[in-house]
Amino acid sequence: MLKIAIQKSGRLYDSSIHLFKECGIELNNGHKQLKSTAFNFPLEVFFLRDDDIPQYVFDGVADLGIVGENVLLEKNKAIHQVSRLGFGKCRLSVAVPKGMEYHSPADLNGLKIATSYPLLLQQFLTANNILAEIHEISGSVEIAPGIGLADAICDLVSSGSTLFTNGLKEVEVLLHSEAVLAVNHDLPADKQVILDKLLLRINAVKAARNNKYILMNAPDHQLKNIAAILPGMKSPTIVALAEPGWSSVQSVVNENDFWDVIEKLKEFEAQGILVVPIEKMIV
Ligand code: ATP
Ligand code: ZN
Repeated sequence: MLKIAIQKSGRLYDSSIHLFKECGIELNNGHKQLKSTAFNFPLEVFFLRDDDIPQYVFDGVADLGIVGENVLLEKNKAIHQVSRLGFGKCRLSVAVPKGMEYHSPADLNGLKIATSYPLLLQQFLTANNILAEIHEISGSVEIAPGIGLADAICDLVSSGSTLFTNGLKEVEVLLHSEAVLAVNHDLPADKQVILDKLLLRINAVKAARNNKYILMNAPDHQLKNIAAILPGMKSPTIVALAEPGWSSVQSVVNENDFWDVIEKLKEFEAQGILVVPIEKMIV
């Protein structure tokens, strides 16, 4: 049985549960309990505060955990990241009052900076030769300058609207973070086997998220051109249509290249292009 720690409630909870679901792992009961057991996969889920997860994984109370990279790096435990999960995206940034002139990190010299990330902030200050005072607070960091507690802050940002409503502007990005899977270093062999099974499923879900299945009709004289831009998993599937001179082409395209590919397909006279989401993709 593999023991995984996830956030009890908060920004990572829903996406963590959704990931299990996409992996076909069903849990017995909700997060009102301390833990829950999956009934169709050897997995036990612990619901914890995100800040505690790195320590629990390090101690081996949990074998692995889902946690923001920001928390993982700040807690600085000897556990290792095995997968980036693509949700909980945010930045750890320094922000200063809107009216303050800011040109470079040197402008932070002598300031008092409030943060819940003293280690990551200190690393940034040291790397830039800045002497500033770090004031550690655990929450509502964004109000610190407004109430005279600090001159600047270092906090998580996603849209930036919280900074804006507090009269702050983002001036330095220390880290681009997302949720990751972090694992204890000394996983026994039997647990490693289960982890590999879990990773196979997670990778299939991640690959499916980034790819679309695409079908179209194309004139035969363009098939070479079309096959060249649609590599698919090996090569595209091409099936003759009942109408002479035409074929149906099927392939997989990456989300990043998607619109480029569509434009080219149209140039090569493809018609009736259908784009279908993929549920799982095992490469
Ligand atoms: P807990 O009660 O578990 O300690 P918390 O209040 O520390 O919860 P949340 O605010 O739920 O934590 O954030 C959890 C994680 O979500 C963060 O550590 C970060 O990785 C990610 N995250 C994504 N966007 C944001 C954001 N705009 N602000 C804060 N965290 C964000
Ligand atoms: Zn927390």
